[in-house]
Amino acid sequence: MTEAPAMFSVMEQFYTIQGEGYNTGKAAYFIRLAGCDVGCVWCDVKESWDADLHPVLTIDALLSNIQKHPAKNVVITGGEPAMYDLTLLTNALHENGYNIWIETSGAHTLKGYFDWICLSPKKFKAPLQENLEAADELKVVVFNRSDLEWAEKNAALTKNGCRLYLQPEHGKFETSTPLIIDYVKQHPQWQISLQTHKIIQVP
Ligand code: SF4
Repeated sequence: MTEAPAMFSVMEQFYTIQGEGYNTGKAAYFIRLAGCDVGCVWCDVKESWDADLHPVLTIDALLSNIQKHPAKNVVITGGEPAMYDLTLLTNALHENGYNIWIETSGAHTLKGYFDWICLSPKKFKAPLQENLEAADELKVVVFNRSDLEWAEKNAALTKNGCRLYLQPEHGKFETSTPLIIDYVKQHPQWQISLQTHKIIQVP
């Protein structure tokens, strides 16, 4: 068995407000791990795809940065963070009292311990069933009408109580938002998620 890593390729890390989904509005420290093999055409962090282009940091180095801030929430995002075994990182964060929220496409087996799993399924590499069943939040980015069918297909595989969000793709905001508004009015088990960090101009 391969040992879980204690070092990670990190594209960026910053303290901010979670702008979207269930935890919107809460202060959190973001760790954006580098590396992604999902290949979304509309990806707005394509520079995260190649892990070799980013510095490799130890868990201790990450922790010391996180501990400079008062919030006890850490978002592990990417890239696709589940390409890493996150066991040692999540253990260290939990030992220091942090809530850990992961944002993943769900395309890889999750390794680690998470307090909140936000799964944003991508057509380019579909999520694993085990991850859909574990998700606390399903957040589907809507680019066009066909994404609503994709949303329902994935929602049908989630556990009871999983929060369901539809979020307009940023570049298609003007056309996808009216679609989502109509859809949520007709299917109120869904909620709208907006990228409020772009409105309040935080990272
Ligand atoms: Fe970009 Fe995320 Fe898609 Fe990877 S999964 S290509 S990081 S949007």
